[in-house]
Amino acid sequence: MTQMTFSPNAVARLRDEREEESTKPYLSRGSRAPRCHTCRVIDSHCLCSWRPKVNSRSGVCLIMTKKEVFKPSNTGWLIADVVSDNFAFIWSRTETDEALLALLSDPQWQPYLVFPGEYVEAGRVTHTVDIDSSKRPLFILLDATWTEARKIFRKSPYFDALPILSLLPEKLSRYRLRRSTRSEHLCTAEVASLCLDLAGDSQASNALDAYFDVFSQHYLDARNQLPMNESSVAHQELGVFCKRPSQESGSID
Ligand SMILES: [Zn+2]
Repeated sequence: MTQMTFSPNAVARLRDEREEESTKPYLSRGSRAPRCHTCRVIDSHCLCSWRPKVNSRSGVCLIMTKKEVFKPSNTGWLIADVVSDNFAFIWSRTETDEALLALLSDPQWQPYLVFPGEYVEAGRVTHTVDIDSSKRPLFILLDATWTEARKIFRKSPYFDALPILSLLPEKLSRYRLRRSTRSEHLCTAEVASLCLDLAGDSQASNALDAYFDVFSQHYLDARNQLPMNESSVAHQELGVFCKRPSQESGSID
């Protein structure tokens, strides 16, 4: 537990652990291009100097599948980069991680399992986050495909007592409209941004949105072999939250 809070990014740590355990290297489409070890974007389009620095009262806990940890398109690590109190666990149907149970019962946190309300009995569902509580909100996000997420939800008895935070359709559509996203489903980073916003962590929410946009651009430009363009609107938005070497006046170098 203590070790976990020292780690700047729980997702990166999980990935490193899994990498050491695995006997054969994970190969995915385009995995031959050298990738930055930290952000996993192709070297020429590395995102590392664009990592935002913001404070947030909320914490996040990502429940991931083994496969998801290694996907270059995974957005869970973006959340873990933005929210300093971040935790990540690999889900297993047969084994329960003691550290996860300890986190769920830690009195400083009020865990919320983020899941669509229509799949849960109404009594457990909430659409708001209690921000006046002395307990800090801890958002548990199932960072997996929808099929896997439903399985995790059904087969994890330690989640049965938790309140379910269900994002209202009007919130979701307003968010989609504002960001003019074309995809029908929000990715994990976008869901986390909405949760942070509900919890009053608007700075972290905005930083995460901009970070996700910048990541998407770097990721796609790298895949399409386009040169890196760091002058987009998203970069400008994100720049507010970053301390970039080029922006420091009178740097010592
Ligand atoms: Zn990088």
